Amino acid sequence: MRYYILFGPPGAGKGTQAKQIVDKYNYLHISTGDLLRHEIEAGTELGKKAAELIERGDLVPDEVVVGMIRRKITDNPHIKGFLFDGFPRTIAQAETLDSMLNEFGGKVDAVISLTLEDKLVYDRILHRAMIENRKDDMDRATIEHRIATYHQKTEPLISYYKGKGNYREIEGNDTIEHVFANISRILDE
Ligand code: ADP
Repeated sequence: MRYYILFGPPGAGKGTQAKQIVDKYNYLHISTGDLLRHEIEAGTELGKKAAELIERGDLVPDEVVVGMIRRKITDNPHIKGFLFDGFPRTIAQAETLDSMLNEFGGKVDAVISLTLEDKLVYDRILHRAMIENRKDDMDRATIEHRIATYHQKTEPLISYYKGKGNYREIEGNDTIEHVFANISRILDE
């Protein structure tokens, strides 16, 4: 079983690339953002709590996302691999993922990190707001808070994974095709 993390700031193109990776490699794409949005649409208790946090641009609690990830892994024992998108987002989530995969006899095979400067993150999210209908994409203050949250809580994961030797960086400010070619090179190794 292979485990990959698609990493990067909001708007870096993780969702777009994930679709192409799934088509070519048949990995199971797990986006914690998508899972949370499903909970919100279904009107579950979890969804109600998550909606408030997401609309503010805050993270939902680590235990919530870790629980969703564990369930997805245990529910899918017969697939080739997993592609995590938007997870882990904190050091605590990364540590829990490591011990969880260890328990399942696996490890994070590579962290594929798409880089994008803040100005472009901002522009891309505003552009996406016009196409998708995400509340957290529409408000400037929320976007700024998400970017700040990324720098504060998620960016430290770069050193964490560099220390483990499985961190790979790709320039996100490139065409979809070029980014995908670079990702494919890593996945083909
Ligand atoms: P983005 O395009 O901003 O990366 P996502 O769809 O990945 O958006 O996530 C949307 C929101 O869902 C985040 O801003 C956050 O509130 C919540 N969320 C998603 N994944 C996580 C996670 N791993 N830990 C905590 N909160 C998360």
